[in-house]
Amino acid sequence: MTPPPPGQGGGRPDGGARRPRRVAVVPHTHWDREWYDPFQTYRLKLVRLVDDLLDLMESDSAYRDFLLDGQLAVVDDYLEIRPEHEPRLAALAAAGRLTVGPWYILMDEFLVSGETIVRNLQKGIARGSAFGGVMEVGYLPDMFGHVAQMPQILRQAGLGHAVVWRGVPSVVDGTAFTWTAPDGSSVRAEYLVAGYGNGAALPEDAKQLVGRLRSMEEEFADFLSDDGPMLLMNGSDHLRPQPWLGRVVAEANGLQDDFDLAVTSLAGYLDEAAAAGQDELVEWTGELRSGARANVLMGVASNRVDVKQAAARAERSLEQLAEPLSALFVPPARWPAAFLDVAWTLVIRNSAHDSICACSADEVVDAVLHRYAEARQIGEGLTEQALAVVGRSMAEAGPVAVNPTAVERGGLVEVIVPAVGEAGPDVQVLSERMGMPGTITLDGATVRSMLGLLQGSRIEDGAYVTDAGLTQDDTGIEVTLVIGPEASEDTSVEEVKRELFTRLTTNPDVEVRLVIDQPPVRRMLARQAPVPGFGWARFTSAPLAHPVRLEGDPATGLTLANGLVTVAVDPTTGTFALDGVPGYGRLVDGGDHGDTYNYSPPTTDTVVDTPSSVTLVPGERGPVRATLDVVTTSTWPEYVDGTTHARAGTRDVVVTTTLELRADEPAVRVRTRFTNPSRDHRLRVHLPLPAPADRSRAECAFDVVERGLVAEGRAEEFGLPTYPSRRFVQAGGLTVVHEGLLEYELVDIDDADGPEPRATTLALTLLRATGMLSRLGMALRPLPAGPMDALDGPQMLGPVDVSYALCVADVDPYDLADEILVPLQVSGSFGGGDRSARGSELTVDGARVSSVRRVSGSVEVRVFNPTDAPTTVRIADRSGWLVDLRGRPVEPFEGSFVLRPHGIATARLDREHD
Ligand SMILES: [Zn+2]
Repeated sequence: MTPPPPGQGGGRPDGGARRPRRVAVVPHTHWDREWYDPFQTYRLKLVRLVDDLLDLMESDSAYRDFLLDGQLAVVDDYLEIRPEHEPRLAALAAAGRLTVGPWYILMDEFLVSGETIVRNLQKGIARGSAFGGVMEVGYLPDMFGHVAQMPQILRQAGLGHAVVWRGVPSVVDGTAFTWTAPDGSSVRAEYLVAGYGNGAALPEDAKQLVGRLRSMEEEFADFLSDDGPMLLMNGSDHLRPQPWLGRVVAEANGLQDDFDLAVTSLAGYLDEAAAAGQDELVEWTGELRSGARANVLMGVASNRVDVKQAAARAERSLEQLAEPLSALFVPPARWPAAFLDVAWTLVIRNSAHDSICACSADEVVDAVLHRYAEARQIGEGLTEQALAVVGRSMAEAGPVAVNPTAVERGGLVEVIVPAVGEAGPDVQVLSERMGMPGTITLDGATVRSMLGLLQGSRIEDGAYVTDAGLTQDDTGIEVTLVIGPEASEDTSVEEVKRELFTRLTTNPDVEVRLVIDQPPVRRMLARQAPVPGFGWARFTSAPLAHPVRLEGDPATGLTLANGLVTVAVDPTTGTFALDGVPGYGRLVDGGDHGDTYNYSPPTTDTVVDTPSSVTLVPGERGPVRATLDVVTTSTWPEYVDGTTHARAGTRDVVVTTTLELRADEPAVRVRTRFTNPSRDHRLRVHLPLPAPADRSRAECAFDVVERGLVAEGRAEEFGLPTYPSRRFVQAGGLTVVHEGLLEYELVDIDDADGPEPRATTLALTLLRATGMLSRLGMALRPLPAGPMDALDGPQMLGPVDVSYALCVADVDPYDLADEILVPLQVSGSFGGGDRSARGSELTVDGARVSSVRRVSGSVEVRVFNPTDAPTTVRIADRSGWLVDLRGRPVEPFEGSFVLRPHGIATARLDREHD
């Protein structure tokens, strides 16, 4: 097909003959793996669907193509039940009729990490190789908006096409646009103006089909070029194939000359469409979060905050702890590939848009939480193992601090050390256990049962049997237990137990003396001296340049101060001032008559932002860490009345907010806990901006995205400017780092209708509690976005425990996020290894590190440059190859390489020399 002359738009001239318009019919199904029904319920239907599809495609060559929703999870879920059908699937795929991938699952892009997105794509591509390869199209049909870096991610996986629906801004006026990432990478984006189901449920009758095409052509005339092709996505949520499709398409072609229909593949259509209209595409750079023509469902970011916290912890335990520590400290042969694969599969499955968004049945959300817990357990277990390897390899005994991130830093550590002499001015003693040398004479049965209680060597935290011995003479048996602060891998406890049991069996009345040898130990907080990036250092207490103090009186106000920042708590409001700016920590509770997808205020709202009582409780007093509790009592309405659409009832709630300040740190850590007693409400903490702001900067996948004060919407979905951030958001001189509190909004806008509107407050959502999966007639989104099922889970009744940190100093937000969320790790050591007192396994600077792991035995490092300037990424003393996201070599490097602004790069290092 030849492209139309450039610049020619509008309708075709009246009466003029035209070539028939090409109509590409792409049969597919959109398979939400779990949503308003649980996974297993949907899978029963999936297996029937694929059974029938295989029969249909094998018997009817006119049913030429089928798109298995762009996600391999569908294939694996099917084959788990029908493994014998893999050759049938593979044969149809090899014939180019069944397209799979490229994703493993159709994820949400904003609520999971950049690494999760990349691993999802890589897992899809790897699995797809069993089926002759994946569809070479970045198929993103139902995601609730799209991250700015997606074009770059797709390009680095060799994909030149994206297919999108939600989030496309009104400036896009055709069925395709050029979508550009912040680094300049572009893809051709096919815009599904009417969604991925615009050709669902086609009529069986050819005349009716032609009629439907004519009305569609009319309805979407503004988007269609004169005689450019038209795409009919023949399928929708969990829909089964229409077996008569091949016949009705052939009959429709015989009936008329205006349309030339063909059942085809999505990739086939895109190649044709790209060739037909290259010069006319609007260009859009950055994220797609507009509600101009389709819902972006922005309220999912704050729905089920427990799921978002679980996601943050699981991803962090894998990406920032287990993988880098295992890659760098565990011998290559012991790289835990299988464990990590299990954990990542759980995390990837959970990234499905209905799963992480938790706009799903309560049973689905239970399953999501369980998967995240298992992934985190694997991550934490592998982290422990890697730290133990460091401990065992140290030349000298004593605690060792390990830095799992790239930037050299010190930080607070909690260590247990022998209590020798005075503790010193730069540490904070938490507890001291006196030495316990002594001999107890007991009967054999008592000693036997006591030893039986010992599980391994652990007595309690900080007390382990490090050695055991047994002697016997004429006077009896003597059992000696040596107790130390660190667990030892091989103690003789079990041997001693067995030996004692044997001897007691032959001589049950012998006297047993138990000798306990426990030196005095001290559990303390200290500031560890700087540890190199991806390195280790024997515990060394650094002098405190800025010791922290708790001062004041609970009745008149308490202050935490360290010379870098002062946190002064007001005993009447329970709010606090940061460096003199008052009003932080104000809890604002309002009604939410929305659903899991969208916030919506009740018609008559009652907002509670003042507690009825405030009590300040001093905690730790420094010098390393100081804390205090702000305990408030408030009365919140109990629910939104369905008849009056007003908040009704009252419930008292006690909220405990712990403020913590550490020596030498400019950020205050905040942890808020309460038992949620109320339904249908939204709780936000209001955080004053030191300077008014007209924009925010929020962490997103592989970048920081800048947003203004408004969002594009329409009557069917109000453009609510609540936005997601990954781990941090900045505005007006304030940096907020959080754990899973993804939703923020800039509020309290001065000059809102004037030329220079400025926000003075950042509202961080702590909880959004609603009772319907979806709802009809909401103020901000009148039409349902899913089934109108009542749910208990999203009400979040019960314990809520949320954490964030605030900083008003000029800080690098990535460094601060690592400091708050990925602290230095501590391991114990008995010494005797060959590792020096301080060193590093890997030095990376000049860019942010997203991933360090082993691939095919080599260490692979993924970095990104979130700045507007090119950077030189140095990987000291290492060489290797830059590879794309499919692991294909791009170019070699020696010690360093240049990375463009906002670029992502993956470096595979040559094997270590040692
Ligand atoms: Zn979906």
